Amino acid sequence: MPEILAAKLIRDVPDFPKEGIMFKDVTPVLMDAKAMQQAVDLLAEDAKAQGAEVIVGIESRGFIFGVPVALKLGLPFVMARKLGKLPADKIHEEYALEYGTNTVEMHTDSIRPGQKAYVVDDLLATGGTAAASARLVERLGGKVCGFGFLVELSFLGGRQNLLGYPIHALIEY
Ligand code: AMP
Repeated sequence: MPEILAAKLIRDVPDFPKEGIMFKDVTPVLMDAKAMQQAVDLLAEDAKAQGAEVIVGIESRGFIFGVPVALKLGLPFVMARKLGKLPADKIHEEYALEYGTNTVEMHTDSIRPGQKAYVVDDLLATGGTAAASARLVERLGGKVCGFGFLVELSFLGGRQNLLGYPIHALIEY
């Protein structure tokens, strides 16, 4: 893999959003067009190699990376959103957090049966969000052909939640 320009730009913010969490802030990557272009190109290359027919972006930073990937490949883009944001007919999946649960939703008409979906987010941590998004795609009759992340926090073992799926992460910590 080439040198990933975004790697030098990601900013560590300790104790955000709560004590003990080292937040990987990708906003400086968005401010650098070359780093952003490279990240989008590499994610699009993987999505294409996995045979993607639709790109699913996970709210909210998955939208920022997912939309340009979809545009580059000429593919549809679909949102996996947090609870209560999608207006039309939808399904939801819950996943566990350290304390409590979160919910993601997708519109029921967003995936066609058999369609191959490539799921994009900025960062893979425990994998709960990505796994719930995959369940949504599969309940709608689609297939998850792969996951693309800018960053993987490999010490959190998120891949264990995504066994059997191809996972591509540009930067690993
Ligand atoms: P998880 O479900 O644990 O894999 O969490 C993934 C989601 O939470 C992604 O949408 C990330 O944007 C966000 N996230 C989790 N941990 C971090 C972190 N340390 N830094 C930045 N974003 C994070």
